[in-house]
Formats: sequence, C-alpha cells, structure tokens
Amino acid sequence: MEMNHSRKTIKENKETSKGTAVVIGGGLVGALCVCILASRGYTVTMYEKRSDLRKSAFTRGRSINLALSHRGRKALKLIGLETKVLEGAIPMKGRLLHCKRGNTAAVLYDPVNKQNIYSVGRNYLNQVLLDAAEKYEGTTLLFSHKLQSVNLMENTITLWNEKTNENITVTADLIIGADGAFSCMRNYMQKQLLFSYSQKYIEHGYLELSIPRERGDKMEKNHLHIWPRGTFMMIALPNQDGSWTVTLFMPFEKFHSLTTQAELLTFFSDIFPDSLDLIGKKELVETYFSNEPSPLLSVKCSQFHMGDKFLIIGDAAHAMVPFYGQGMNAGFEDCAYLNKILDQTKDNIKDAIEIFTKTRKDDVHVICDLALYNYTEMCDLVTTRTFKIRKCIDNILLKLMPDTWMPLYHSVSFSHMRYRDCIENRHWQDWILKNVKFACFILLFMILIAIIWEYLSDAIFEQNISYESTVIKQCSLRNQ
Ligand SMILES: Cc1cc2nc3c(=O)[nH]c(=O)nc-3n(C[C@H](O)[C@H](O)[C@H](O)COP(=O)(O)OP(=O)(O)OC[C@H]3O[C@@H](n4cnc5c(N)ncnc54)[C@H](O)[C@@H]3O)c2cc1C
Repeated sequence: MEMNHSRKTIKENKETSKGTAVVIGGGLVGALCVCILASRGYTVTMYEKRSDLRKSAFTRGRSINLALSHRGRKALKLIGLETKVLEGAIPMKGRLLHCKRGNTAAVLYDPVNKQNIYSVGRNYLNQVLLDAAEKYEGTTLLFSHKLQSVNLMENTITLWNEKTNENITVTADLIIGADGAFSCMRNYMQKQLLFSYSQKYIEHGYLELSIPRERGDKMEKNHLHIWPRGTFMMIALPNQDGSWTVTLFMPFEKFHSLTTQAELLTFFSDIFPDSLDLIGKKELVETYFSNEPSPLLSVKCSQFHMGDKFLIIGDAAHAMVPFYGQGMNAGFEDCAYLNKILDQTKDNIKDAIEIFTKTRKDDVHVICDLALYNYTEMCDLVTTRTFKIRKCIDNILLKLMPDTWMPLYHSVSFSHMRYRDCIENRHWQDWILKNVKFACFILLFMILIAIIWEYLSDAIFEQNISYESTVIKQCSLRNQ
C-alpha cells in the first residue's frame, strides 16, 4: 500500500475490514463520508489540508450557519447523529419577509404539516462529525495534509504533510475526493478524455454580517429572515447563542460602488432600514470594509468517478449557489446514496462508483439549476401576488391530496424524492394548473356567452311579442 517518500501506511484491520478507503477533505461531506464508510467496516484514512478545527481558534470563513433539511437529516440518521445535530440547531418554520418600510410578513414553509428546516452552525456540525469519525475503529484523521497530485494511471495520490514538510504517496481500494468546490482531485479527473465540466460564477457575491446576541431577541425567532430587494437581497439565520448571521447577496459592482462609510450607511438606511440598528452602524462599517465579498459558483461534471476507485462527492462534484440551502444537504445525500449502492453491489467498488455517476448525475444537475433559479424567487418573486396565489393553491392541494400534490419547495426540502423527479413533478403541476386556468377561462367565456344569449333571446322574444301583438292589433282593426 505504501508507495514512496515517507513511510505512511493506511492501517487495515484484516479480520473485520471490508477494504481500505481514503477520503480527501475533512469538511462537512468528507467527515460524514468517513463515518459512513467506517460504519460499513472500511478502514478509512481522512486527509484534511487545514489544521484540526476542533483545536484551532475560530477563523472567519464560509457561511457560519447553514440550513439543514430532510436529505441531510436522513444521512445523519444513518450514523445515529440526527438527534445530536438537531439538539444544537434552531428550527426555522418559514421565511419572514422584511419590506422597505420595515413591516414584515411571515410565509410558512409547510403550513399543512408544520415541518421546519434547521439552522445549524457549520463549525458545530463539522466538530460533531469529526468527533464521531474518530470514534470508529480503523479510522485515522490526518490534518495539515494537502492533496498535491493524483496519478489516475497508477491509482495513487500524493499529499504534502505541512508539519513535516514531506510528501507521502498512498493508495486504497476506494479514493474519495470531498475536497470542496475547488477540488484538486476533480482537477486531475478533468484532464481525462470524455470528462466534461462546467463552472459558472454568478455576478453576485456575498458578505457576512452579524446581529449580536444582545440585539438578537429583537428578531422574530424560528424564521429565516429575508430582505428581498428585487435584484439582490439580505438574509439572516439564527445562531444557538442568540446572535444572527446576516448574509448580504449583491452584485459585485454594487459592493464595490459603496466606498465610504457615508455611502454604506445611506445605502443601508434606504434599502434595509430596520436592519441598521440591529447590526449596529459601527459594526457594519467595520465588517463591510475589512472583508471582501466572496464569489458564488456552480459546478457541473459529466461524471463523478474515474477508473475503478476514484470518486468525487459533495461540492467537489457539484458545487452550487446557496439559494436553495441544498449544497450540504445534497452532499450528505451523496454519502447516503453511496452507502445504498455499496449495499446493492455488495461492496463492489468499481460497479458502485459507476452506478453513482449514472444515477446521481441528473439529480445534482437539477438542484444546481434550481439553486440558481431560487435566487430570483427569494429576491423578487416572494413579494409578487402570483407567487402568493400559487403558494396558497399549492397548500390547499397539498392538504387535500398529500400523496399526490407535493409543491416544489416541499419536495426538495421535506422529502427524499429524487431532485430530477421534484422538477418533473413541478412541471406536471404547472401543466395541470395552466390547463385548469384555461378550462376556467373557457367556462367563464361560455357562461358569459350564455348570459348574453339569454339576454338577447329575451329581448328578441319581447320584440317578437310586441311585433306579434302589433300585427294582431292591425289584423283585428282590418277585420273590423
Ligand atoms: C454562503 C453560503 C451559504 C450556504 N448555505 C447552505 C445551506 O444553508 N444549506 C446547505 O445545505 N448548504 C449551504 N451551503 C453549501 C455548503 O456550504 C456546501 O455545499 C458544503 O460546505 C459542501 O461541503 P464539502 O465538504 O463538499 O466541501 P467543503 O465544506 O468546502 O469542504 C472541503 C474540505 O476539503 C478540504 N480541502 C480542500 N482542498 C484540499 C486538498 N487539496 N487536500 C486536502 N484537503 C482539502 C478543505 O479544507 C475543506 O475542509 C452554503 C454555501 C455558501 C457559500
């Protein structure tokens, strides 16, 4: 197993192990994947380029909290962590929309079955997963190890140990890249024939602000707050300590146009007036000018596996913009799905990873597209009458036909329906509503015609009668 450079071996428990696995990346998806493979009986080694977040001081990074929904929960449940994670999470029952004048309106996610999504701290979740991964027999978590290169011909990977400044080259029966949106493993796979790949940056970036604990109780709890402003928006998710993480999504152009304190404060008091005192003027200025807005990208690949042991999952395989709150959930679902296929193939890794590509690709492409679409919904559509009417119709039909009529948001966030089926489901619902609308229009038209006909025939009848009576009168006069 050991190849060259320093002597690093992946220990394998020969009696019980189903085989060896390497997971690159100890982020949310990588850590969960380690747990799932270890729970199946694999001997797993995880390599993470950063130091152990459980031992390091807090570093500012990507989104402090995330929305966890059914797909993610199901995967956590597989390894018995759902309850523990939810204990440290805050339920969010709906969106609370803030309009410019400061009034708010709540829109529940699921008024029929009262289901919630959950705001969970990224670091907390990652810690829970790493702690759990470490407890499995046969797992080794190695931090400060950065994947440097992948030799797809020889089935090996080379990592750089930052602490010893050494390179190690290793192999395993299954090598998984969970190394995020800028995946090194994917970079190597991309260079192979027939591997298609697309990466799209949107013109909007995001910046994280915060509402401190002291002022957090002024925000209505148990909601995901949104300040929709047409082409951009701001959102806030609750944290366990009573504070809120506020994320401003806006075109980079707009971010860069606010260059002075005065411009920034005027912009906030014009556009998000009710948030200004909550965030605090001083804190806003400080955070805004000491941080650059981060980019948002969407990544699609034509395949996720290579050869008979390499597989990419999570953001490495399908990074998406965060507007459906599904990036992590989809990554967690990848792990649960891999587990299912390994069951089906009786741990035949070659078959399992091939099936993974074949059957998962359409689903994750759909959710990448839906995530892009949802930005328009959150920024703009949520405030429109058509959106409110559609939501109302969807809720009525969901209540009347819970097994037949599942609205799109519902199927994505509160079900395990394949993402591909969620969108197909929406298409036939749109088709039905369009045709019902058309049928109603035709019916109204016919009713209108009937009324006009009735009116006209009455008028003609009366005219006939008066004509007839005139004729009769004239006849009787002539007879006299
Ligand atoms: C603003 C924002 C808000 C979001 N909100 C939500 C939400 O509400 N709900 C949701 O489901 N998703 C959300 N997401 C998406 C979610 O953050 C990602 O989908 C999720 O973090 C993906 O996890 P991952 O483990 O695949 O990748 P990452 O979290 O990026 O982890 C990758 C890990 O690999 C390590 N790594 C990278 N390169 C190497 C290397 N060469 N060698 C070794 N290790 C390496 C990194 O250090 C990192 O620890 C959001 C994203 C953003 C940007």
